[in-house]
Amino acid sequence: STVNAAEPHYTITTDATYAPFTFQDKNSNYVGIEQDTMKVIAKRENFTYTMRPMSYNSAAQLVSNGQADGIIAGMSITPERKEVYDFSTPYYKTGVAWIVGKNSKIKSLSDLKGQTVALKTGTAASEYGKSLQTEYGFKVKYFNDTDTMYNDVVVGNSAATFEDMPVIQYAIKNGMALKVMNANKPGNAGSYGFAVEKGKNKILLASFNRGFAAIKKDGTYDKIVAKYLGASQ
Ligand code: GLN
Repeated sequence: STVNAAEPHYTITTDATYAPFTFQDKNSNYVGIEQDTMKVIAKRENFTYTMRPMSYNSAAQLVSNGQADGIIAGMSITPERKEVYDFSTPYYKTGVAWIVGKNSKIKSLSDLKGQTVALKTGTAASEYGKSLQTEYGFKVKYFNDTDTMYNDVVVGNSAATFEDMPVIQYAIKNGMALKVMNANKPGNAGSYGFAVEKGKNKILLASFNRGFAAIKKDGTYDKIVAKYLGASQ
């Protein structure tokens, strides 16, 4: 498409492996709730963007150090992050799951004593996992992406992991050999938001919020969510 000088162009970062929010389809195109949402909002709000998929941690850093304009990456809105970022209207509710292998004998967090727990660098779930480390006496090992982290538990190198509930539930539904131990009691309930560097990119943030309100109101957003998760969500 032609570049229109009147339309602002932004660089947006995302987490490359965070289904159902952002992931690659079988043709290697980036799809997911966040990718579809960004597309329709940009169209409505008359801006264009370059989407840059990478690790969550890098995606967050590029925005906090001014190398990218915005991030949409399953990023939980937290009080600490509000010191660094300005967040949009929340677009998805989440909470932290603790997860073991499908056939694991582990029954409680106490069974993790002396075992290794896989965590993802820079995430809210890793902070939550880390906060339980002293009490339950496990070791931690860090990963840059969710798929590699899951795999470490599936193959039995790590005994458990912590990840956001909608993300692990989607993976399990799609055949990942893991199980959630606290499905009815997610830790640290919160929401995902689109974010910009604090005090910067006010126009982009306002466009996102206005566009999101419109697609929430006219049912487009619920259709996007249903496309990936089914109508019951
Ligand atoms: N929701 C988590 C966070 O904000 C994880 C995000 C992610 O891994 N993409 O830290």
